[in-house]
Amino acid sequence: YGDYNQKIDYVFKVVLIGDSAVGKSQLLARFARNEFNVDSKATIGVEFQTKTLVIDNKTVKSQIWDTAGQERYRAVTSAYYRGAVGAMLVYDMTKRQSFDNMARWLEELRRHADTNIVIMLIGNKCDLANLRAVPTEDAQEFAQRESLFFTETSALESTNVETAFFTVLTQIYRIIS
Ligand code: GDP
Ligand code: MG
Repeated sequence: YGDYNQKIDYVFKVVLIGDSAVGKSQLLARFARNEFNVDSKATIGVEFQTKTLVIDNKTVKSQIWDTAGQERYRAVTSAYYRGAVGAMLVYDMTKRQSFDNMARWLEELRRHADTNIVIMLIGNKCDLANLRAVPTEDAQEFAQRESLFFTETSALESTNVETAFFTVLTQIYRIIS
């Protein structure tokens, strides 16, 4: 039967952070709706999107929060981080500066979020391989040192996006259940 009164066992809040224009909103669009907007401007006022999935026979509703452009001014508020059990720390692999800023974003995240938060470092835009400015090894090393999961994605080509979110959500589930 089509059962729309599906029982939700868990709701996990996950936040997207990182510099402006690294592809946070497109990663979310790809994950939540399987969409990519070629000419997306700044994010329009939606606070979060949800996607429900089944992990270990439990229904998990993920609530993925996206910034509305305030990261441009480093003005992400503590309310944004509140209650987050997962985080996607996103840089643009063609922009070295966006990777170098990861340490600052991580620091801000750790200052505001729960100690058990599951964090995934994401090097987005891997479809632009010829413009790569961040070697995979640099990111791997940073991730290892800071105990983060790590992957390279393309929201454009849909590479590793689902896996990235799924890894974080599964890991959260393991910690919480
Ligand atoms: P945000 O500011 O971090 O939310 O970044 P957006 O999601 O708005 O994306 C910024 C720009 O990068 C837009 O022009 C997107 O079309 C582009 N973009 C996002 N993801 C990718 C990707 O995986 N590959 C490529 N080539 N461009 C991307
Ligand atoms: Mg955005």
